[in-house]
Amino acid sequence: MEAEKITIEDTPNSGLRIDIISCVPRLLDSFFDHSILKRAKDAGHAEVVIHDLRDYSIQKQKQIDDYAFGGGAGMVLGIETIARCIRNLQSIRVYDDIIYMTPDGERFQQKMANRLSMSKNLMILCGHYKGIDERVREHFITKEISIGDYVLSGGELPAAVVSDALIRLIPGVLNDETSALTDSFQDNLLAPPVYTRPADFEGWKVPEVLLSGHEKKINDWRMEQSIKRTQERRPDLLQ
Ligand code: SAH
Repeated sequence: MEAEKITIEDTPNSGLRIDIISCVPRLLDSFFDHSILKRAKDAGHAEVVIHDLRDYSIQKQKQIDDYAFGGGAGMVLGIETIARCIRNLQSIRVYDDIIYMTPDGERFQQKMANRLSMSKNLMILCGHYKGIDERVREHFITKEISIGDYVLSGGELPAAVVSDALIRLIPGVLNDETSALTDSFQDNLLAPPVYTRPADFEGWKVPEVLLSGHEKKINDWRMEQSIKRTQERRPDLLQ
């Protein structure tokens, strides 16, 4: 039995398009429909399309996982359904990278985000259960990313983390274009502290210099604070 060919709308994209493949797509629905990510989409800077892996299963029960060869606890997402899904997406677009979220991947960092945010089309595959059949990784995946040394139950949160970090870097997505450049980890420095009104809350005052209106002094103070904070909290970044 052949799975019905699933047609995916081919919309020309000006910004970054991310196709996320998941077996629990509803986990991701609301995330991309709010705040900065929603604005990025509405303004045409980025588009995230979520695909339900189950739609590509040709099994009666829409099964997508199976027992691991060799035994042991935990189910494995099978190659047939994943291959069908990836190939269907590839028949429409050329992907800069086909990413698999996995704890044994390359550690996600701001530098990687900067690089990936310049892509046109990315595909992100979310694993579940014990993971995915190794042959998917060998033959389809071009990049494997971990968001940190801990294990989550699925790749959806990691995919959302990566997508968010990429999209906010696209010029025009944040109101003030320089704003992403002054965040932590750009230039290997942590961001300086920030304050807003009131200037005096029950005697807890905002640093005087920030109220001075003296731009150079303020910038110098921010740079000092950045360096101090980085020395204290993340000396490794300064090396
Ligand atoms: N057995 C695997 C873990 C499976 S966790 C192992 O020990 O490596 C299930 C899925 O969650 C993974 O396939 C992956 O897609 C996702 N995942 C879990 N932790 C992650 C992390 N730190 N970074 C990226 N993806 C992660």
